Amino acid sequence: MPQAPAVIANLVESVLGRPAHLLDASEPAPGFLKLELHAEPPPGGWHPGHEIQVRATPTQGRRYTVQTVGGTDSERIGILAATEAEGPGTAWIRRLRVGSRTTVLAGRHRPLREHGTRRLYLGDGCALGTLDAYTQGSDAPIVAVEVPADAVEPLADRRPRFRFLAAAGAPGDALQSWLERAVGDDEFRNLDGAVLLGRAQSIQRQRRVLTDSLNLSRRAITTRPYWATGRAGL
Ligand SMILES: Cc1cc2nc3c(=O)[nH]c(=O)nc-3n(C[C@H](O)[C@H](O)[C@H](O)COP(=O)(O)OP(=O)(O)OC[C@H]3O[C@@H](n4cnc5c(N)ncnc54)[C@H](O)[C@@H]3O)c2cc1C
Repeated sequence: MPQAPAVIANLVESVLGRPAHLLDASEPAPGFLKLELHAEPPPGGWHPGHEIQVRATPTQGRRYTVQTVGGTDSERIGILAATEAEGPGTAWIRRLRVGSRTTVLAGRHRPLREHGTRRLYLGDGCALGTLDAYTQGSDAPIVAVEVPADAVEPLADRRPRFRFLAAAGAPGDALQSWLERAVGDDEFRNLDGAVLLGRAQSIQRQRRVLTDSLNLSRRAITTRPYWATGRAGL
C-alpha cells in the first residue's frame, strides 16, 4: 500500500494498526537512524524480521522491518532506517521524538523463505536491519552490505562478521563489483542459498551472476526488493 486513498488507508489501519510510542532514537552511523518503539504486538507477537508499515502521510504507506525485539520486553521493537531516500517515509522517521505516539501497521509475522544452509546475504543500507535479524544465530553466513562511505567504519565495528562496502558510482555498483570479483576468485564454493535485499535493479544483476556463474538455481535465491530507482515506495 505505498499509495492509497485516505479512506482505504483508514480501513487498513483499523485492522492492522498497533498503538506505539517512541522510547529512544539514535544515529548509529551517518545516514542511519535507529528507533526503539514500544508497540502493541500483532497476533503471534513481534519477531526479528517482522515487516511493518507506517502511514508516512494520510495517503502514503512505507515499509520497514523489525531489527530487534527487546529481551525482557516483548513489546519493545527496534527499527534501523537508512535516511538516504528523503521521501515521506524518511520524513516520518525523522519527525518522531522520544515519547511521540504513533501507529504501526503489522499482521502476523511471515518470515522470508530462505533456502540452503550455506548462504550468501546481500543488501544495501535499508536492508541492514533485516540482515541483522535474519543472520543472528546463523553459523557462518557470508554477508555483504553496500553503505555510504562514512558509515562503513561505525557499522563494521559492531558487526565484524559483515563485509561493508563503500558505495561508489551508481547504487549497487560497489556490491556488484565485489560480487563478481568474489565469484571469480572462487570464494563461494559450496554455496547453496542466497538472500538478496534492497534496490530492485541491483537484485536483478546480482541474481544473474549467481545463476549464470555459480549455477545456483533461481529457487535457491530469495529476493525482496525494498526500493527501486524511479519509484516512490514499494
Ligand atoms: C518489506 C520492506 C521492508 C523494508 N525495511 C526497511 C528497513 O527496515 N529500513 C529501511 O531503511 N528501509 C526499509 N525498507 C525500504 C523503505 O521502505 C524505502 O527505502 C522507502 O522507499 C523509503 O521511503 P521514503 O518515503 O523516504 O522514500 P520514497 O518516497 O519511497 O522514495 C523517494 C526517492 O528515494 C529513492 N529511494 C527509496 N528508498 C531508497 C533507499 N533506501 N536508498 C536510496 N534511495 C532510495 C526512490 O527511488 C525515490 O527516488 C523496506 C522496504 C520494504 C518493501
